[in-house]
Amino acid sequence: MDEELEESDALECAQHGKAHVTYVCEHLISHPVQKWHSDYPDAENHWPDAWCAACNVHYLAQGGEWNERNEDLVPIKLMCHVCYEGARSASLARMAGPVFDAWDAFLDTCFEELKTKNDQLNQEFDLGSHQRYDWDQEKAELVFSNGGVPAVIAKIDFIGSYSSRSDTWLWAWANFHLLENIRTRIIAVRDFGESHDYPCLITAKWEAEEGDGWDMAAAAAHVLNAKGVYRSPDRNGASFLLIREICKA
Ligand SMILES: [Zn+2]
Ligand SMILES: [Zn+2]
Repeated sequence: MDEELEESDALECAQHGKAHVTYVCEHLISHPVQKWHSDYPDAENHWPDAWCAACNVHYLAQGGEWNERNEDLVPIKLMCHVCYEGARSASLARMAGPVFDAWDAFLDTCFEELKTKNDQLNQEFDLGSHQRYDWDQEKAELVFSNGGVPAVIAKIDFIGSYSSRSDTWLWAWANFHLLENIRTRIIAVRDFGESHDYPCLITAKWEAEEGDGWDMAAAAAHVLNAKGVYRSPDRNGASFLLIREICKA
């Protein structure tokens, strides 16, 4: 964790030591593999309060808020933030039956689509042939250059990143180290995930392999009708960048 732990929002987890406090209904703690109802993470709260479908009935009965009439009906427990992320990640296994089949077919289509798009990009711009590339978060640009001279300029969005240290995927919309300008358009992919109830698209961080990064990138390129995806490797894994527009400098 980068953030300093304030005593008031810290707890001692038997498994993970000192950690951030999160609030979760006890049904999700005992059965994490189900739909988690919560707000999305924001810069102030990376682990928003979460409750199960049964508790959500009480929430909706009060017009989508917690107050003195429904709070007592929901058994809320404290959970360490590492346990929270692990349990939320485990909830992805709730996808089954026709939804799983639809998701699988959707990913296949997106992957083929992205392969074609990336092949075309490489034919036109030969992205691997340039000496270096740099991105500028403020301009949301990725610039390929040779000897200090820009050769190709792409308008980009961050899709997300795969960490080989933690074997996790993190969506850019939940990566608050990134500037807003480069992580908010990708929320359209999350909205798409909501409308189809695809948990991989709506869960901020989950246990993954690098191939999952390509799958998410392909889904994002499809939903946002992108020109392609560029993978930028680093010591701890790789970032996946969506190419919205691209031209020779
Ligand atoms: Zn519950
Ligand atoms: Zn823990």
